[in-house]
Amino acid sequence: METASFDTQKLKNPEISGTGYQNGDQKGFWNVREYVLFRDNHECQHCHGKKKDPALNVHHIESRKTGGNSPSNLITLCETCHNEYHKKINSGKIKGPEDFKLPKRAKPYRDAAFMGIIRWTLLERLKQANPDLEVVNTYGYLTKNKRIELNLAKEHYNDAYCIAGNLNAKPLKQCLYLKKIRRHNRQIHKFNFIKGHKRKNNQAPHMVGGFCLFDKVRYKGQECFITGRRQCGAFTLKTFWGQKIKDGASMKKLILVERTSGYMK
Ligand SMILES: [Zn+2]
Ligand SMILES: [Zn+2]
Repeated sequence: METASFDTQKLKNPEISGTGYQNGDQKGFWNVREYVLFRDNHECQHCHGKKKDPALNVHHIESRKTGGNSPSNLITLCETCHNEYHKKINSGKIKGPEDFKLPKRAKPYRDAAFMGIIRWTLLERLKQANPDLEVVNTYGYLTKNKRIELNLAKEHYNDAYCIAGNLNAKPLKQCLYLKKIRRHNRQIHKFNFIKGHKRKNNQAPHMVGGFCLFDKVRYKGQECFITGRRQCGAFTLKTFWGQKIKDGASMKKLILVERTSGYMK
């Protein structure tokens, strides 16, 4: 289970980098890199997204040799600004980070507790629920490192493959997408503050014309999901990825494919 994109423990003690000294240092840098991207909100600290370059680099404010790989010496720049910075430094147009609206040292993050505790609860529950399985914690920087090492495309299923760690497993040609859907009608909670208002039991799926919200249906030959319902009984239909198919489909034109199970798949 991947609980976070980086390991806060190894940020504090970069010398204990886990799997041996040799690739430890390199992997340690991948960890710091993920932290720096997170700290900087995945945003270029020079143009703050104005250049619209989605490629982000982690730049050494002082050179790696003199400044090292500590988070305070690293800052997020988009590739455009990063190239511009090094060009200007090399040609002597600017002398240092202060001429490029960059700090001399990056600000530390507010707190080490920011990663929260829920992920550990989740990991513990997963262990308890699967006593016969080996449940191990891992981090996003290790997943990413492995995915790039194996030359796999940036897809969720490839990340899952790297997280699972069984690299002898042959991937199937198919893949199953799951999406958790809400269990409650949020409106009931929203309007619950009215004094004396009796809270309705809204746990059971509400049927209209034999259909529930989030049922998988076929509409004009296309598989989609019921994502909304109008008062007149017409349905809003969307694909798994959220693309709208129809905004007032008559229930007569729907064929039930699969009853909702709490997940879209
Ligand atoms: Zn930029
Ligand atoms: Zn740089």
